[in-house]
Parts: sequence; structure tokens; C-alpha cells
Amino acid sequence: MRYRIARVVCLAVAAAAISVSAADPPGVKGWTASELKDFEKTLAAKMSAQKVASQSLGSFEGHNMLVAHREGNGQGEVHERQADVFIVQTGEAVVRVGGELVDAKQVRPNELLGSAVKGGVEKKVRPGDVLHIPAKTPHQMLVQSGQQVTYLVVKVDVP
Ligand SMILES: [Zn+2]
Repeated sequence: MRYRIARVVCLAVAAAAISVSAADPPGVKGWTASELKDFEKTLAAKMSAQKVASQSLGSFEGHNMLVAHREGNGQGEVHERQADVFIVQTGEAVVRVGGELVDAKQVRPNELLGSAVKGGVEKKVRPGDVLHIPAKTPHQMLVQSGQQVTYLVVKVDVP
């Protein structure tokens, strides 16, 4: 009897070990620091005329993730139903937040773009820095000539 219990325990331990090495559970995704840094080069090669490129990292319940690269100023943005969390990977930029959107135009439901953001405050961001921008808050990424910024964005849906 004692032998039998020991055998069951052994099988359970073996099963647990197998499940640890199995494929990631649904929705689990990870990126190493070096994979994220590599986006500086791969996205630089795909920039639009506005000197920006981005790539989706996945859509999940309540949020989605992308990585973006800029070598020039972005437009002013307002997301009425999403907060932005920026996690800077390489380079540097200034993010103007608050104030008001200039020449605001609705481009999609709950999404406004403008030529710039007027007023507000300016936050300088560098690698490792994190910036949270609540929904409905105007923001614009400013990148000086000769500079670049590569950053992870977590877009969080808010009711
Ligand atoms: Zn944004």
C-alpha cells in the first residue's frame, strides 16, 4: 500500500514537470529585453512618410499591445475609451500631455487626431521610463531631428 502511494506521488510530480515545459497557456506571451530592442532596427526599415512604424504584439481581453518607432513628431491624439501606457525601449522623446488638441478630427469611433497638442506639460522619456496617459487626455510624441524613440504601448480599454 505504501509503495502504491509513493508511485502515485511520483506520477503526479512527473505530470507537473511535463505541464511546466508544455506550450504557454492561452493568452500568455512574453518578449525578452533584447527582442524589444531589436524593434528599433526592424521598424526603422518600415517607417511611413510621417517617420513612424508600429507592429501589433497582440490583442487580449481588455487591452492590446504594440511596439512603435518614431524618428519625427507624432500627431496629437485623444483616445476616448483607451488609456495608453508607454514603456520606452530605446532612444528618447518628449511627450506633451494635457492641454488641448489642435484641429481635432474624429478618425474612428472614440479616436481623435489633431495637428498638435497646445499647452499641457512636457515629459521627457528615456529607456526604461514608463508613462501612463489616461483616456480622454490629449498627447503628442515629439522626437527631435536626428533622434529616435522605440516604445512598447499597452492600450487599456476603459468603460
Ligand atoms: Zn496614444
